[in-house]
Amino acid sequence: MALDLTSATDPARLAEFYRDLHRHPELAFQEHRTAGKLAAGLRGAGYEVTEGVGGTGVVGVLRAGAGAGPVVWLRADMDALPVREATGLSYASTADGVMHACGHDLHVTWLMGAAEALAAGRDAWAGTVVVVGQPAEEGGGGAAAMVADGLHERFPRPDVVLGQHAAPGLAGFYPHTPGLTMAASDDIDVVVHGVGGHGSRPESTVDPVVTAAYIVTRLQSVVSREIAASEAAVLTVGAFHAGTGHNIIPAEARLSLNVRTRNGNTREKLLDAIRRTVTGECQAAGCPRPPDIGLSGGYPVTVNDPGTDHRVAETHRRLFGAHTVFDFGPVMGSEDFSLLAPEGVPYDYWYVTTTPPDVWEAAEGEELTERLANVPGNHSPLFAPDLSVLVPGVRTLVSAALTELRHRPGTG
Ligand code: ZN
Ligand code: ZN
Repeated sequence: MALDLTSATDPARLAEFYRDLHRHPELAFQEHRTAGKLAAGLRGAGYEVTEGVGGTGVVGVLRAGAGAGPVVWLRADMDALPVREATGLSYASTADGVMHACGHDLHVTWLMGAAEALAAGRDAWAGTVVVVGQPAEEGGGGAAAMVADGLHERFPRPDVVLGQHAAPGLAGFYPHTPGLTMAASDDIDVVVHGVGGHGSRPESTVDPVVTAAYIVTRLQSVVSREIAASEAAVLTVGAFHAGTGHNIIPAEARLSLNVRTRNGNTREKLLDAIRRTVTGECQAAGCPRPPDIGLSGGYPVTVNDPGTDHRVAETHRRLFGAHTVFDFGPVMGSEDFSLLAPEGVPYDYWYVTTTPPDVWEAAEGEELTERLANVPGNHSPLFAPDLSVLVPGVRTLVSAALTELRHRPGTG
């Protein structure tokens, strides 16, 4: 049984919805307008809608076939980033310094289109579709906030959770990875305590700028010298804040670190090395007291259920052609998507490539990976997905949902 996707995948309608979201990006937990648009659309399509779940989260529930059958959750994240858009697009961001630079506006558009298509075609399936609009994926802990607000108790428990993400790469491919697909991420905040004073009399101070600079430099050798080549790990210092003026030695310096790992052992080794390095440098500098080193957040590894991934990938192959689906292996990116699935519930998360063909053709490089490095990727101020991906991204979600609705015996 095929669904009539005509209305839900009208390219002009999807493009209008998408451009509007792109013009009006909202930061983590401030996605009021975005959530409102999603909620209104879901209500219009016949979903039972709950707003304000975990802050700005939206949940829509639709039952078909007397409610018997499996429960399938479809998820999109809604937040934008503190990035100043530089695409020059006619529908570029109108919010200064805020941009949908990770494609979450696409995710919401795809989810909306899929929700409408499944509602319009509810005669063709039985079970329950739960649509989840999640706030604050970008390090804000939005999934955890929704879970803490009763996501797993207040709504039909999922048999499977499905999601997808916009990625760089020539538009029209659907990478799938069974098993481990994304790394764990940890945020670490460091405060170096020095002794402030006059810039002309450093001998009367303990300069935290210099100490923090040594820390930043020394941390660069942790992955290269302490982690085995066979283990994947990344350690990045993303922010360094200290000082207020040219001739003032400040009393403290703050560093924001991010760590990516693929297993618990490597993670512990890296966190230990950070503690040792930071503490050691502060001691060497003669800081009056030990540094503060705190874990301020993080996301676990994302591990797709292989069976579900194989089934959904097969569906996407049939739909778009065998050559469009491939496995590029696990990436060092991270997600809180997996937290939406209750313990033991399988989930699957795949990618939709979005680079416009002309941008891809113009990119330097012979090899695929070379070109990938040379086109604007997620979080770039130039990230500008091709609008040709709007309809396919709806179809990937709808077809995945139907595959799982028909495959699973269900608990309903
Ligand atoms: Zn992102
Ligand atoms: Zn993202």
